[in-house]
Amino acid sequence: MLEIKQLHKSYPIGDSSLHVLKGIDLSVKEGELVAIMGSSGSGKSTLLNIIGMLDEADEGSYILDNVPIKNLNEKKAAIYRNKFLGFIFQSFNLINYKNAVENVALPLYYQGISRKERVEKAMFHLGKVGLADWAKHLPNELSGGQKQRVAIARALAAEPKLLLADEPTGALDTKTSYEIMDFIQELNDDGKTILIVTHEEDIANMCKRIVRLRDGVIMEDCYVDQVRASQYV
Ligand code: ADP
Ligand code: MG
Repeated sequence: MLEIKQLHKSYPIGDSSLHVLKGIDLSVKEGELVAIMGSSGSGKSTLLNIIGMLDEADEGSYILDNVPIKNLNEKKAAIYRNKFLGFIFQSFNLINYKNAVENVALPLYYQGISRKERVEKAMFHLGKVGLADWAKHLPNELSGGQKQRVAIARALAAEPKLLLADEPTGALDTKTSYEIMDFIQELNDDGKTILIVTHEEDIANMCKRIVRLRDGVIMEDCYVDQVRASQYV
């Protein structure tokens, strides 16, 4: 699904620069559920953003679904992003003046399908996350867990091959976090490849594999006996 070799990334700071990723090697196969762990500032989001083509590496190679991702122009990058990738964020990133079904339908807009079909697909995915009855509600009428479910439905709407989640439970209470993880595990059981950035050990233990970042490199990469979130829900 993806193969990264010797990836480097620095950010300029005044006259100097901050070397955040110092030679990352990572491959992920189809069907994996991977946690990327590390303390705050260790470069987790930087790595996920490069994987998600929201940012570019300075050095190294990155192949996503057999496509080398390098020097793609913004238009091509947007096409690949839309085709391959779904995103979930800690702060949900829903559009406040659009209701749930409109939020979910948004990624489909760029696929050039009719409005009727967009709404039908969006309703299908809202149903999958258990929110069919909430379609007409605005984000501020939903709980945190419901907002994240809408965001998951939106991430799935265009049927991406790879789902990327940056601290998806970071803004949620413990019980709601486990409910979201339970859902993410079910998606993975159905075959979706998923990468989750988290700094929470119990969330990482609900994944099949844990990759730990420290000082800009991967210091540990191991498969774990996955804990089922539904034990806690
Ligand atoms: P994490 O997600 O693990 O908390 P990040 O990838 O967000 O870490 O950040 C890694 C380091 O890079 C941090 O020290 C952060 O302050 C710095 N950083 C992140 N983004 C930028 C940016 N756009 N410009 C400058 N520094 C940045
Ligand atoms: Mg981060």
